[in-house]
Amino acid sequence: MSISNDHVVAIHYTLRDDAGEILDQSEPSDPLYYLHGHENIVPGLENALTGAKVGDKKQVVVPAKDGYGEREDELVLNVPRDQLPPDIEPEVGMELDMESDEGFAMPVRIVEVSDTIVVLDANHELAGETLHFDVEVVSIRAASAEELEHGHVHGPGGHHHH
Ligand code: ZN
Repeated sequence: MSISNDHVVAIHYTLRDDAGEILDQSEPSDPLYYLHGHENIVPGLENALTGAKVGDKKQVVVPAKDGYGEREDELVLNVPRDQLPPDIEPEVGMELDMESDEGFAMPVRIVEVSDTIVVLDANHELAGETLHFDVEVVSIRAASAEELEHGHVHGPGGHHHH
């Protein structure tokens, strides 16, 4: 069996940045399960895994546009401090959920705090980064009808929120 759309795939992975620093990795006993072809993982990695088999090891370099996107300056916002909810004591690195103009929840990070202004960044933390993955394919199986309907994996390593 090789990886194609609508397969549940388990991978071990290590993600590094351009400098070789580890940004994220799977635990040895806890591979990442995802549904192939359903945008569960970044497109550059998903495309590179198409056709791979259990036991295959790959090094995949994913440019930002095929990863978490380019950084967008418009997504960095200066907000007067008194517009934040009064119960929040802003600190650099804190994550907040803002509501976008369209009413969607939009996660933002505080990147700067002054006496009058808080700078919020709604870019993904890894936006603009070239992603360097070391990946090993651990298992491949066909997805269930229910998994395909939901667009994600159930069972071990999957979602349990229903
Ligand atoms: Zn589900």
